[in-house]
Amino acid sequence: MKVGFIGLGIMGRPMAKNLLKAGYSLVVFDKFAPSEDLVALGAEAGTSSADVASKADIVLTMLPNSPHVREAVMGEGGVLEGARSGTILVDMSSIAPAASQEICAAAKEKGVVMLDAPVSGGEPKAIDGTLAIMVGGDEAAFDKVKPLLDVMGGSVVRVGDIGAGNVTKLANQMIVALNIAAVSEAFTLATKAGVSPEAVFNAIKGGLAGSTVMNAKVPMILDGNFKPGFRIDLHIKDLQNALDTAHNLHVPVPLSAGIMEIMQALTIDGEGQRDHSAVARYYEKLAKV
Ligand code: NAD
Repeated sequence: MKVGFIGLGIMGRPMAKNLLKAGYSLVVFDKFAPSEDLVALGAEAGTSSADVASKADIVLTMLPNSPHVREAVMGEGGVLEGARSGTILVDMSSIAPAASQEICAAAKEKGVVMLDAPVSGGEPKAIDGTLAIMVGGDEAAFDKVKPLLDVMGGSVVRVGDIGAGNVTKLANQMIVALNIAAVSEAFTLATKAGVSPEAVFNAIKGGLAGSTVMNAKVPMILDGNFKPGFRIDLHIKDLQNALDTAHNLHVPVPLSAGIMEIMQALTIDGEGQRDHSAVARYYEKLAKV
């Protein structure tokens, strides 16, 4: 079995490396990023998304957002140009659920089955192969690709039909963004009140307020080290997809709209390429910490 991997960025590259290490035969492609390190590990370099799809039984995509996946799958030189009937396409990007459904319908016309399988856990878990993978789509296709996803994931859960993976990911991103804002707001207050933020962290991380987000992001905030990780610009993309989905379904999401505004303000201030833990900078600037 040959596996295609399209999108070799912060996340895709280590995920592809783990598949190679597990013994899968890979053909890889990225429109802008190099693939030499993967070729050195035994991957074949594809020349386009269509080329990758023509050589693979299962094609994985790990791209920034809906327009990139549309282009790589449905565009000129895209997956659907090269894929055979029976190919399984697993889009692991975080995109709008409605876009997953639209691309899946186009794939179906070519006999290609598509799953949406976005991930959570960031670069460290992509490297460790312990991502949380949330999958939407056809159950038989899910059963076929599950061993492959298990190489990249610590948990792989089918949550429903196509689009359900990305609905789950939107929920994840709303919770993470609001958790970072809560931590930033609280730690800025403690600092301004003259209490050491390190001491606050040590005192509360084992209590009810403690969280995976607190453990991962507070050390970055305390060090002033906002190297991504997960960029603010990408988180704005996820929150916009959440707001659009909520708007279409008439669901009020006032807190998510608020954190989106904070992230937009940071982007306008030139901080969009920083890790999303830089939300703390918004509070620190306003409070003059
Ligand atoms: P990235 O920007 O580092 O990588 C995306 C790659 O896609 C780039 O190398 C780019 O050159 C390539 N690309 C763009 N358009 C293409 C096209 N048409 N054809 C082929 N290649 C193309 O992004 P990332 O951080 O790896 O994130 C990828 C996805 O995973 C995003 O949807 C993101 O929201 C999600 N995600 C990221 C993280 C994280 O911590 N970085 C965590 C969980 C989920």
